Amino acid sequence: MSGTGPARAVQRDPVDHRYVPGHGDRRYGVSAYELSLTYVPESNRLEGTAVLHVRAELDTTSLVLDLHRLRVSKVLVDGRRPAKFAHKGDHLTITTREPVTAGTELVVAVTYSGSPRPMPGLDGEAGWEELEDGSIVASQPHGAPSWYPCNDRPSDKARYDVSVSVPHGYGAVANGRAEPTRRGAGTVTHRYVQDEPMASYLATVHVGRLVTQDDDADVPLRIVSSREEAATALKALRRQPEMLAFFADRFGPYPFAAGYTTVVTDDELEIPLEAQGLSIFGSNLMTDEWDAQRLVAHEMAHQWFGNCVTLRTWNDIWLHEGFACYAEWLWSEESGGRSAQEWAEHHWRRLDALEQDLVLADPGPDLMFDDRLYKRGALTVHALRTTVGDDAFFGLLQLWTKRHRHSNASTLELEQLISDVTDVDGAAFLEPWLRRPELPRLP
Ligand SMILES: [Zn+2]
Repeated sequence: MSGTGPARAVQRDPVDHRYVPGHGDRRYGVSAYELSLTYVPESNRLEGTAVLHVRAELDTTSLVLDLHRLRVSKVLVDGRRPAKFAHKGDHLTITTREPVTAGTELVVAVTYSGSPRPMPGLDGEAGWEELEDGSIVASQPHGAPSWYPCNDRPSDKARYDVSVSVPHGYGAVANGRAEPTRRGAGTVTHRYVQDEPMASYLATVHVGRLVTQDDDADVPLRIVSSREEAATALKALRRQPEMLAFFADRFGPYPFAAGYTTVVTDDELEIPLEAQGLSIFGSNLMTDEWDAQRLVAHEMAHQWFGNCVTLRTWNDIWLHEGFACYAEWLWSEESGGRSAQEWAEHHWRRLDALEQDLVLADPGPDLMFDDRLYKRGALTVHALRTTVGDDAFFGLLQLWTKRHRHSNASTLELEQLISDVTDVDGAAFLEPWLRRPELPRLP
């Protein structure tokens, strides 16, 4: 354990530490996760082995992985037992046999099991959740350690290879491309490979009695639900191909080679949630109502804003939610509803009447998913659009998703990009929108 406490404290980003305290270790990065899981829905029993391909970023004698509740039975580093490992609280600390120098690559294998539960955090619970008959993972922002040991910071993106064995009669879906299923005695193993780098909170697995409806377009679209929900889901999601083509035209090419999967659960879910290449909706949102359709657009837009281009630190959550909310207004405009300008005026009036204590570029953990952050974020994006004009605006969005493709980005980098490619000084223009609580007037 030598050096773990102080080194960890020094290396942490203080901003990140306020939003998702105690998660992530900056002394190493993970290039790939291989997860082999067995899950029994009836007993909510999960057994797993996680193999992490690790690269030390600093000299160290220990690594800390985030893991909530589940019991660790074995740890190997490069095939050998480490000097020791200890799982206390939500931290699995592995002390290496010899000091590790920066740049060293290691393979860390962790065997674990237990009954996964959502993990508590400052903004509520997130992570692995039992459904009526199956399970779902909704990890944003801190729930990834509820089902696998990870370096849980959004700046550490990795490739994933996930195998899930479930009892006959059940299916499993995860991020990325499906490999052929393998049938064993009593179980079926589903394997998914996510080639594009992914933040830990965007990894997901859904287990249930599933049917898949495929649409073999250039970007494959897939709907995964129960047999009972299939027809309703297909009808409610029928405009997704159009929506995807529209967003690709405005935001740049769809980022993920395996396409886009929409998971619809029989259970009602309070909110939908994005994962990489995949979004999760409760059956309650499978309607033609605008409040459901806008969320279909919102989650899809996260594939560009949030999943492909991911914040470095959680204070920048507006870079995900502001742009995804603005995509709702763009889709409204495109699909014959209210224009973005009308939505902007509507929400500006609403926000103007509410308390003004939100600083968009650093809202604090309590307000990071506040509805005002979404709407003010979208208003900021709209203000930029009306100031620079449509050509410059959509050109800028495409540069943004290209420059930071499958990587991370910050508000500072957005300000820089605006200054680089438009006549507007990005930092000066965004300052009243992002860094002061009073709501600026729309331009
Ligand atoms: Zn969102």
